[in-house]
Amino acid sequence: MSFTTGPLEMTERTLRDQARQLVFHQDPAFIEMFDRASHMLQAVYRTRHTVVIMQAEALLGLEAAAACLISPGDVVLNLVSGPYGKWYELYIQKYGGQAIELAVPYNQAIDPDDVRRMLRRHPGIKFLSMVHSDTPCGTVNPVGEIGRIAREFGVVTIMDTVSGLAGEPICPEEDGIDLAVAGPHKFLGGTPGLSLLCVSPAAWDAMERRASPLRGSYLSILDWKDTWLAQRRFPHTPSVGEVYALESCLSQVLEFGLDRYAARHRLIAEACRAGARGMGLQPWPASDAIASSAVTTVHLPAGITEDQLRARLRERYGIMLAPGPAIGAQVFRMSHMAKMAHPAFLTAQLAMVERALADLGAPVRLGQGVGAALDVLGRWEF
Ligand SMILES: *Cc1c(COP(=O)(O)O)cnc(C)c1O
Repeated sequence: MSFTTGPLEMTERTLRDQARQLVFHQDPAFIEMFDRASHMLQAVYRTRHTVVIMQAEALLGLEAAAACLISPGDVVLNLVSGPYGKWYELYIQKYGGQAIELAVPYNQAIDPDDVRRMLRRHPGIKFLSMVHSDTPCGTVNPVGEIGRIAREFGVVTIMDTVSGLAGEPICPEEDGIDLAVAGPHKFLGGTPGLSLLCVSPAAWDAMERRASPLRGSYLSILDWKDTWLAQRRFPHTPSVGEVYALESCLSQVLEFGLDRYAARHRLIAEACRAGARGMGLQPWPASDAIASSAVTTVHLPAGITEDQLRARLRERYGIMLAPGPAIGAQVFRMSHMAKMAHPAFLTAQLAMVERALADLGAPVRLGQGVGAALDVLGRWEF
């Protein structure tokens, strides 16, 4: 059983929908399906902006954003609250941009007032890059407030919402989000082979106004504008089977209801934090207000390493947890997205973590974590 941060276990329905004969990508039936998936993606993004489904894991979309927007010499304010934000600096530099960093300790979220101060101090800033849901740290950034401030300054925003979409609500128009990138393998509970982009008019404009707009490349978002958006044909053969899974999981989320889906994950995350505290452990985020609905990052008991805990779970009980992040702290992560955002799975995960910690000699009293989570789960109504 897998309590990982993505890919994670898929629902029976997604599995069934994915396991169908591949249809030729120029078949009208596939064109129709791609169109349907695009419209549903727009609904899940809560936007009227254009969406683009690029055909490889979300890193493609994240690099494409930098490759298509940033020109040599452009100044980019890069917000860093975890490893993914820090790592975006490499893309900024790769495409000739100059990164100005605004960083916080990895158990905290970015303060919008600091963003405003930086934008005032550096009037040359053209782009701002940020991470929505910081999966390694289990934190979320106030991207709506930050995006609205960026818009006041005419700054185009790039947002990594790979593990935010469908779980941490945003509205790109209101929130000043210009180019967002998500993946189907986190909150949506799908397969990892696609990049789900949401592109505002300002982002299209910035891509077109570049001295040499990027075209004729796997990294080109403009290629998708020229082919799929303009003519309903593809720049290359799409990953047909991945699109089956995407269509399926987008349908499931929309049928469930977007607000309900987010509320369900919020409650599960609250129950997970209660469970951790019940075991005598402390969540890693500085406050519950910035804790993620996707994953719960927790301090380990003294004397037990993350490797030991995960190895025990995997070898003795056949349970897989995602590795803890390289953030220089003794933490581990419990993930609770999509199918796994259910009391039955959460309590099983907490129970087995408790068992494994006890095996390793931690002073836990069996059942206390699960009991504390069950108290919160009295409010389950999903
Ligand atoms: C998952 C994720 C990505 C994509 O990384 P992979 O490990 O390649 O899937 C990027 N950013 C964030 C915040 C993520 O959670």
